[in-house]
Amino acid sequence: MNNQLKEFQIYLKNSKKVIALVGAGLSASSGLPVFRGSQGLWKNYNMIDLATPDSFYIDPSLVWQFYSWRRYTSLKAQPNNGHRALINLVDEFKSKNRKVLIISQNVDGLFNRIRPKIDEIYDIHGNLFTLKCTSFLCNYIEKNNFKQPLTPALNETEHEFEHEHEIDESTTTTTKNSPKFHPVKSLDESQLPHCPICKSLLRPGVVWFGESLPLDLITKIDNFIEDEDSIPDLVLVIGTSGTVYPANSYVERIKLKGGKVAIFNTDIDDKIVQGQVNDTWGFKGDAAELLPIALDCF
Ligand SMILES: [Zn+2]
Repeated sequence: MNNQLKEFQIYLKNSKKVIALVGAGLSASSGLPVFRGSQGLWKNYNMIDLATPDSFYIDPSLVWQFYSWRRYTSLKAQPNNGHRALINLVDEFKSKNRKVLIISQNVDGLFNRIRPKIDEIYDIHGNLFTLKCTSFLCNYIEKNNFKQPLTPALNETEHEFEHEHEIDESTTTTTKNSPKFHPVKSLDESQLPHCPICKSLLRPGVVWFGESLPLDLITKIDNFIEDEDSIPDLVLVIGTSGTVYPANSYVERIKLKGGKVAIFNTDIDDKIVQGQVNDTWGFKGDAAELLPIALDCF
């Protein structure tokens, strides 16, 4: 790995244009579980019942309680040294008039907890701490709202979850695995967050199943990659396998243009780790530990 690391660092040092794709693995290093299924109070629900425009329309109380809990869980987590290393990379590149873009698939707002506004970081799946008005006639958006709970009624859901979590950890395996069903409270719509401008219901600013990725960001990413005057030298794939759309398409496009790839993930193809795949470095392990070392070369 040492030779690979040296080779990578020399290349990074001379790169003029870099893209980083950030996935759930970086948040996992902050203690946030990779979000595949529902947990705790939410274990009897499907994501499809909680994270779609239809489910919000039918039962905003249920969906808001779920997102209130996700906000709470994210706020309890801390940004890690991988987040810091990437922000340092942005600063380093900007100070030298080089181009850098970070595409994050995580909604947990951990980058913003270090610095609220970083123009070079695109949250393509949205952000738990962005609130959007649901009215078609209103374009109210609030970013970096870390207020918790957002309304007094949403506070109770958090406590219920915490209570159950404590029981889970202290009891035997049998109890832990036994299905417990706690129906989530039904809150009146008036108890949920509302738009300060038009008084309509607010919704979490995340991309739900069935919704398209934010067109403005996708267009900016396309322009960044396709700009014929400056071809991307390097794409960093962090905390993700990079094999799922849209990450895989960005990686392929950059490779086609002659750019190289560096993967930082707990799970990487052995051939890549052994340096047998052209123009691709693989650093296997915890991205929060690897990045501060790998990116410290300026
Ligand atoms: Zn509004």
